[in-house]
Amino acid sequence: IFAAVEMAPRDPILGLNEAFAADTRAEKVNLGVGVYYDDNGKIPLLAAVRAAEKARLEAMPPRGYQPIEGLGAYNSAVQNLLFGKDSTLATSGQVVTVEALGGTGALKVGADYLKRLLPGATVYISDPSWENHRALFESAGFPVENYPYYDAATRGVNFAAMNAKLDSLQPGSIIVLHACCHNPTGADLSDAQWDEVVAVCRSRGLIPFLDMAYQGFADGIAADAVAVRAFSASGLQFFVSSSFSKSFSLYGERVGALSIVTASKEEAGRVLSQVKRVVRTNYSNPPTHGGAVVAAVLNSPELRQMWEDELAGMRERIRAMRTGLVEQLKAEGVAQDFSFVVKQRGMFSYTGLTAAQVEKLKADFGIYAVSTGRICLAALNSKNIGYVAKAIAQVVKS
Ligand code: PMP
Repeated sequence: IFAAVEMAPRDPILGLNEAFAADTRAEKVNLGVGVYYDDNGKIPLLAAVRAAEKARLEAMPPRGYQPIEGLGAYNSAVQNLLFGKDSTLATSGQVVTVEALGGTGALKVGADYLKRLLPGATVYISDPSWENHRALFESAGFPVENYPYYDAATRGVNFAAMNAKLDSLQPGSIIVLHACCHNPTGADLSDAQWDEVVAVCRSRGLIPFLDMAYQGFADGIAADAVAVRAFSASGLQFFVSSSFSKSFSLYGERVGALSIVTASKEEAGRVLSQVKRVVRTNYSNPPTHGGAVVAAVLNSPELRQMWEDELAGMRERIRAMRTGLVEQLKAEGVAQDFSFVVKQRGMFSYTGLTAAQVEKLKADFGIYAVSTGRICLAALNSKNIGYVAKAIAQVVKS
């Protein structure tokens, strides 16, 4: 039965990691990853997470099945982060939240549910977008198209083109929006532009699906929820996927959630019953550990404060790497203006490096980046930033 099976194309970013691992040069640097490293180049284990895990291990809870929708204390903590602790939406019972296997799992449960709800819809993702968005919605059975987003000339968002495209779509189209820290470009919408997106979703009858994978990595928990809050205030129905992979440094524990804002508590009950069917036929119910740890942190005032401080530390370190890189490129005599790197938000930057320059960085310096020129600023640290700046300078000057 496998004789005619073709080899699937390699995942471009995971393929990069394999090539990096095989590189024997001591000075090699992997800027291709989507992971936050600390200044020692290590994935941090946050102190708040460690404290919650220690308490959990000591309590030795039995490992029964979770409810299909996951842990209640976790799901309400997710709503609190998204909508704010005083949000009437969260207390109204209008929002369905189910624990999911990371942000990816949340997107997939949402996509599968949407396919049952709106089988004829088309999904629109930003151009460019996180590369898994297209594959994920296509695998749920949707045609996937782009809306204009990044403008290489301004290194920002071509909002006029984006807005015009959204304003031309069929009612019932599904629009995937990066809630903050756009991956891969680092270019986000302004608060006023979010209001315009809300308005066009309302006037055209579009279905917004906000992907929140980096809450807290741009300006802070509440500030980074500006898009979610704008949609919440609008009275529209929408979807949100949350990921805690980065913000809790819990990548492998697969901690995420899908939230769906409905029109009423009664509607939410019906929607939840359908989403549970999707979950039940996929993986039945989520794993216990990651969600329990995140819930313990978010629901304890001390641990939550500790986490917010650690999250701020990650955010500030990335910012310092952004300014550091721009300064060091200037010091290396690079005439080209790289100041846009400081304005971009989150872990990534679209540097404008060409595929040939990225290839040269790899061949001559053992510095790995995505061929689109995307680099992860959180992979820079005080020890490798000088080497990386020198290498980029040589590549752009040659
Ligand atoms: N959405 C975006 C925009 C992402 O960048 C990522 C992770 N790289 C995800 C979703 C998936 O998150 P997770 O790793 O929690 O599945």
